[in-house]
Amino acid sequence: MKFAQLASNLDEMEATSSRNELVRILSDVYGACSVDELEPITYLIQGRLAPFFEPVEIGLGERLLITAIAAAYDAPKDEVSKLNRQTGDLGVTAQRLAPASQRESPSVVEVHRRLSEIAGAGGAGSLQQKVDGFASLLGALDSTSAKHLVRMTLGKMRLGIGDPTVLDALSFAKRGDRSLRPVLEAAYNRTSDLGLIAQTLWEAGEPGLDALKVRAGHPIRPQLAERLPNPEAVIKKLGMVGVQPKYDGLRVQVHKNGDRVSIFSRRLESMTEMFPELVVAASKLRAESVILDGEAIAYNPDSEEYVPFQETTARRRKEDIEEFADRTPMRAFVFDVMFRDGSDLTQVPYERRFEIVQALLQKSDTLLTAPLMKTDSAEVLTRELLDNISRGLEGVVVKRMDSTYQAGARNFNWVKLKRNTSGQLNDTIDVVLLGYYRGKGKRAEFGAGALLAGVYDSDKDEFVTISKLGTGLSDQGWRDIHQRLASLEVAEKPSRVSSNFVPDIWLEPAIVVEVLADEITPSPRHTAGMAADRTGFALRFPRIVSLRTDDKKPEDATSVREIREMFEQQRQPGRGRPG
Ligand code: AMP
Repeated sequence: MKFAQLASNLDEMEATSSRNELVRILSDVYGACSVDELEPITYLIQGRLAPFFEPVEIGLGERLLITAIAAAYDAPKDEVSKLNRQTGDLGVTAQRLAPASQRESPSVVEVHRRLSEIAGAGGAGSLQQKVDGFASLLGALDSTSAKHLVRMTLGKMRLGIGDPTVLDALSFAKRGDRSLRPVLEAAYNRTSDLGLIAQTLWEAGEPGLDALKVRAGHPIRPQLAERLPNPEAVIKKLGMVGVQPKYDGLRVQVHKNGDRVSIFSRRLESMTEMFPELVVAASKLRAESVILDGEAIAYNPDSEEYVPFQETTARRRKEDIEEFADRTPMRAFVFDVMFRDGSDLTQVPYERRFEIVQALLQKSDTLLTAPLMKTDSAEVLTRELLDNISRGLEGVVVKRMDSTYQAGARNFNWVKLKRNTSGQLNDTIDVVLLGYYRGKGKRAEFGAGALLAGVYDSDKDEFVTISKLGTGLSDQGWRDIHQRLASLEVAEKPSRVSSNFVPDIWLEPAIVVEVLADEITPSPRHTAGMAADRTGFALRFPRIVSLRTDDKKPEDATSVREIREMFEQQRQPGRGRPG
């Protein structure tokens, strides 16, 4: 496939506001692919050269790209910058400067190869090499191709091709319907590599997908926790359970494969560089290969103090990392093991997996076993919950001792219980920012008045609105958030967003914000949970608690199904709601 062909398909995807159409166009692209094109296309359409968990970066930010664009089109840099300020999209800037057509287009495989070369350039003089390489690649492309190449390089595709869209498109391309989705999804949950899955499906069909196993070095999609209203409901539903503190840190999956250690976030991105202390500790583990699941948090064992989430995620730049590692070293409270010495442990009962964790971590004071106690008494569970809250933790996570590790699933194998203030929801909700209103007066000065927020409808792979947000941030907080929003602004409502509200500015769904609300109420206007015969849901008195961009992708936001469950739970008697 020529790159120009892919670019023109990407243009069609950009133009559509229907998700079904998005899936159809993408499935046509896959249908026209040869086997060796599946991987590069799958990564490129998500603005990547490799799966998300591989830390392969092209290494050309906006400033260097402007230099490369100027060189490619023989234009002064100032002019490129000026044009870019007008268009607000570096892809469109390149498109305006590029020739409308070219006699020959390089192939997709060739473009991927050349970008990989650019990514691979390192050491002295490598920046110039990257800029030159990119300028020369641009020089071979028509204007539409140039636009998409620049967006791929920035990792900002503005298309809304999420993982579910890719999985649906693969199924349509092979079967003409969605029927392969469960098999594809299961393979994805175990390997997190969409390119590998596409290629395996083409080469070895469904049996090939089934044969894709958990492997050290490839993150597994994390098991997630359900909610129940209170300890009584937990014991009634689950009987004997294991109870662990709920730490408010960052979910980490620690992989050791021989000498190589990698650490992945809940978003399945590499965080190996961010946590050198954990890497050292993992490399000392007595196992040839292992995958652990846990929560990283800066913790002082002497004072038994846990550092708040915001500080745990404050390590960004290299200098910060060293300073933080010195000042507040990171620990990981490990609660699970999914793989050891070549064996997949996900099907082993939790009781046994936990014993393996204890045996593995005996000697480490950085990788700590998350303490676990067993009970079938609601009274004991209540005491544990209150005790953990009083020690500065978020609450507890309750686990079924006989459960397997179900990658990517949110079910009652794990249940989280958090602080339960009477009359309020006992859990925060993670919403995605979908747009904003400019606002008046002081707020307008900060750039954003109110935010339009939504949750995720995983069945439809759509973002649906649930609330407007206006409180919870300091003045500086508003300024910061507005700055982050700037690069996500889009001219039209994105195709995966369903909304009856029209904000002043639409945003590409990317930023996840944790909010606390008093209540979930029925709403005739918000689209969360709305159907032909049903109203939607809204949040009452929502306030922003924290930004969760570091650990949550938009698809990790609270789902419509969870909102419906929370709505039903809050109506159960004994919840102490007013009225
Ligand atoms: P939430 O993000 O509110 O859905 O809560 C689930 C998250 O709690 C998990 O993804 C983990 O990051 C975190 N967590 C903290 N402590 C534990 C624990 N002991 N077991 C499982 N998850 C935990």
